[in-house]
Amino acid sequence: MSPESKKTIEEKLYANETRVDKTPHLEIADPSVCLECAAKPCTTVCPARTYTWSEEGQKISVSYENCLECGGCRAVCPRSVIAWRNPMGGMGICYRYG
Ligand code: SF4
Ligand code: SF4
Repeated sequence: MSPESKKTIEEKLYANETRVDKTPHLEIADPSVCLECAAKPCTTVCPARTYTWSEEGQKISVSYENCLECGGCRAVCPRSVIAWRNPMGGMGICYRYG
């Protein structure tokens, strides 16, 4: 068994590199829709905690720089309001271990 295969998930994730694009690659196209989304699954499915609901501001904040580009949020959003574009070339997550 190679030393690489003995690494834990956390160790492998820690080795990834993210180059943050100045322009967000994720945004909520119509934030007013989120007011009517009771479960807000984007806030629970994202492994990188990109989406946070603010009770005070009554809106979702999107920390796009956390994104691991898995696509889960777009799959679970019941109203399909999460807009996506690929990060610019060389930007975004770079997986060390695939
Ligand atoms: S899942 Fe979609 S509609 Fe619901 S809060 Fe998140 S972005 Fe808004
Ligand atoms: S693509 Fe994946 S990591 Fe990125 S915000 Fe959506 S759920 Fe989170």
